[in-house]
Amino acid sequence: MLLEREREEIVRACRKLSAAGLMVGTAGNVSVLAGDLVAVTPSGVDYAELAARDVGVHRLDGTPVEAPLAPTSELPLHLAVYGAYAGTGAGTGAGPGTAAIVHTHSVAATAVATLGDELPPIHYYVAMFGGTVRVAPYATYGTDELASNAVQALRGRTACLLGSHGAVTTGQDLKTAYDRSVYLEWVCDVYLRAAAAGTPRLLSPGEIEAVAAKLASYGQRP
Ligand code: 13P
Ligand code: ZN
Repeated sequence: MLLEREREEIVRACRKLSAAGLMVGTAGNVSVLAGDLVAVTPSGVDYAELAARDVGVHRLDGTPVEAPLAPTSELPLHLAVYGAYAGTGAGTGAGPGTAAIVHTHSVAATAVATLGDELPPIHYYVAMFGGTVRVAPYATYGTDELASNAVQALRGRTACLLGSHGAVTTGQDLKTAYDRSVYLEWVCDVYLRAAAAGTPRLLSPGEIEAVAAKLASYGQRP
């Protein structure tokens, strides 16, 4: 089986996202870029029943290489984001390129995606995403228009919200994209609670930049 490790990793990530309540029903999709191949979830398959062999492998132009099931309806979005950011990175511009994408309809992120045009810098964690998280203008799911709106919204960022739809996070590997989807949901939840209680204080762009630099060496270093 082609890209066996990546396909198994995708199944594990989907199960974890479902268990964490971030994937609702068959909503959302996950992909990993390996060389010039993309492993991506099939459309509308229950994550509890998803097997590694069901995860399709496609070329970057969408051609199926080993894909027994119809691919996610958001294949255009995954391919467009890799096309735009695989080489350069969708983050601050410094890090490695995007090689994994997680799309969810998690509750708080989706709620924020129905409100304004960005998730404001209410918490220093927005530095994880390169700054304020933009809300891409609404477009019908699965369309090239949605894919293009997501690419624009991800400029200089590792996350965006899809207007009246959900969330997208990227990373240089699936663990990073997965972790960002969990943190994004947390920040959106905090924002909704804070905004319901009052007017949240906003952090300055300078502070977000300083935190981004500090986060680069956060945690245990070998
Ligand atoms: P798929 O089941 O086709 O991946 O669609 C789910 C989704 O989130 C569409 O935006
Ligand atoms: Zn979706």
